[in-house]
Amino acid sequence: MKPARLDHIRATDLAHAVALLAEHADSARVLAGGQSLVPLLATRRISPELLVDINGLRELEYVREDGDGLEIGALTRNRTIETSTLVAAATPLMVQALHHSGHVTIRNRSTIGGSTAYAHPAGESPAALLVLNASVVLHGPNGVRIVPVAEFFLGPHVTAARPDELLTAVRIPRPAPDTAVAIEEFARRHGDFAIAAVLAAVRHDADGRITDARIGLGGVGPTPLRATAAEQLLVGQIPTEDLLAEAAGSPIDPRAPTPADWREYVRRRTGRSAPELMTEGRPAEFSPFESGYDPADPIDRMIMATRNAVFPLHGLMPLP
Ligand SMILES: Cc1cc2nc3c(=O)[nH]c(=O)nc-3n(C[C@H](O)[C@H](O)[C@H](O)COP(=O)(O)OP(=O)(O)OC[C@H]3O[C@@H](n4cnc5c(N)ncnc54)[C@H](O)[C@@H]3O)c2cc1C
Repeated sequence: MKPARLDHIRATDLAHAVALLAEHADSARVLAGGQSLVPLLATRRISPELLVDINGLRELEYVREDGDGLEIGALTRNRTIETSTLVAAATPLMVQALHHSGHVTIRNRSTIGGSTAYAHPAGESPAALLVLNASVVLHGPNGVRIVPVAEFFLGPHVTAARPDELLTAVRIPRPAPDTAVAIEEFARRHGDFAIAAVLAAVRHDADGRITDARIGLGGVGPTPLRATAAEQLLVGQIPTEDLLAEAAGSPIDPRAPTPADWREYVRRRTGRSAPELMTEGRPAEFSPFESGYDPADPIDRMIMATRNAVFPLHGLMPLP
């Protein structure tokens, strides 16, 4: 398929981009790296009337120290961030997260502004920004707003940015130098969106007692989530196998489906249990839409909000 007919304007500077968005807020989309937007246009899942192309805005392409942290311009390519020695020294978790975000060819074009504005529930860099207590900078017709990432992601592909606002930068406070970080994810292939990802930033005191634990989860809820119950369990403790197992079993978030919710969902939609479906070799045929998605059903709604997690059964599903 090809995109529906649309206009394309290459913004000449930030003021021009903001003015275009103010004038065409409801019918325009920002074009950054295009790695997510172009497939959506080509498959006509969205059909804006105007693309506001920000690729000429060199003023939004930078990584710089900003007070006690880093500021990264929205148009900075993810590959540039991933290979930046400044970012590696200040926030290595960001580098590790980007290493998992699509393939190098995608990261050569995709931008940190696009990855953040796209707000994929399983995106690694959104989850990293959450763990790192980052903020986003939004420019709109009424000025500049700084929004903590914890308040920015509202749902799958839904953010606190208004349609007439341009995301111009992310700000990442510099973690304490003794912060240990890690990312693990389960994906169908390296470079694919995670089915589930966990990112952690942890500090210990001299006795090995955990003094700070920040754990982010991708792919298990409608937005990246903090595993706050697990964090609270860990702080003040010396880690042991038993403690870590207990933390891993902590409740996640009321917005995240439990394994029992999944089993019930598959049973209702197919009349079979998940193991039966797998044994019959039918997962590829399982389509929650074709089998009757019911928006009035709370389990259906919750599962759809985390539709990424049905990838192994179904593959890509339409945007809401
Ligand atoms: C095959 C494939 C695999 C991928 N795998 C992963 C993965 O594993 N993990 C992961 O995190 N991502 C993955 N991605 C997504 C990739 O990182 C996206 O390109 C990125 O999320 C969007 O960045 P972009 O600059 O290309 O944005 P675009 O595609 O240009 O835009 C995406 C959306 O954000 C909006 N937007 C862009 N910039 C701004 C801005 N400055 N202000 C306001 N709105 C803006 C656009 O209007 C659009 O709605 C994958 C993509 C592909 C194609």
